[in-house]
Amino acid sequence: MTRTNFYATINLDRAANQRGDSEWLSNLLRAPESRVLPLWRSQSLFTTDDEMSMVELDIAHIESLSNGHNEPILLGLVGETAYFSIDVSHVENPADHHILGQQGQFADLRQVGPIMARDVGNLLAYARGIDYWHQRHRHCGVCGAPTRSESAGHQRRCTDEGCNTVHFPRTDTACIVLVYNDDNIILARAERFPPRMQSVLAGFLEPGESLEDCVTREILEEVGVNVTDVTYQHSQPWPFPASLMVGFRARAENTDLHADPTELVSAGWYSRAALKAITPESELQLPRADSIARRLIEDWLDEA
Ligand SMILES: [Zn+2]
Repeated sequence: MTRTNFYATINLDRAANQRGDSEWLSNLLRAPESRVLPLWRSQSLFTTDDEMSMVELDIAHIESLSNGHNEPILLGLVGETAYFSIDVSHVENPADHHILGQQGQFADLRQVGPIMARDVGNLLAYARGIDYWHQRHRHCGVCGAPTRSESAGHQRRCTDEGCNTVHFPRTDTACIVLVYNDDNIILARAERFPPRMQSVLAGFLEPGESLEDCVTREILEEVGVNVTDVTYQHSQPWPFPASLMVGFRARAENTDLHADPTELVSAGWYSRAALKAITPESELQLPRADSIARRLIEDWLDEA
């Protein structure tokens, strides 16, 4: 494999064996070279110029940014430099904030991602994904008591002594599948897609299901096609808000399509030649450049 997916190129040591050591952690929180990435309501901080670079703040600001609302999360180390994130969603208007207002603007990584350097995009995606989990697990799912962050933000423990349950960050697994038959693949359109866009088929894994079973079930449900030769390709973290996309190819055994109207507006077979002829003016557009869907299609197009 010569390419990796967007949001999957991390140049980061997660320091999983060290992050439970509170002394090690507090040293990093005091180290002048450490950096902090603020997250405001799932948005990341970027410079206001055309490049929209990631803004890294001095670690000295972290207490003032948190203001007692949230614990810092250690993302990991890039070389010797520790990167933390902090949630600043309690700030009403970041533009008026005495630190944040000077530094840039908050924006949705989904809008900016494709123009970013890949390792930067991945760092911000990771920060966004783990922050989302914290914001939605403030109470214990077992007993309802408040939870608190532990292990540098990589787990939460129930504060009820009798319960004491430890909760870990979760990722929702989704299978995404390029279905082919000879020189054609299936592309489909869902209501939520941008205008003219069509994509490969995808669906979430259910409890008790293997990835291969998920692929087979989803394709049959969505377009009425039986598939075989289900083959793993590559994967992509997709923290919008909490998914891992697992990419497959599968061969169709029948070619009649019956698009499930609850999931899809339309579905069709498209030849390599037709897809290679797409221009920005075409009625059919492929998925966004930073998506695994696009990569699955381009990999297949490149083979002939
Ligand atoms: Zn509990």
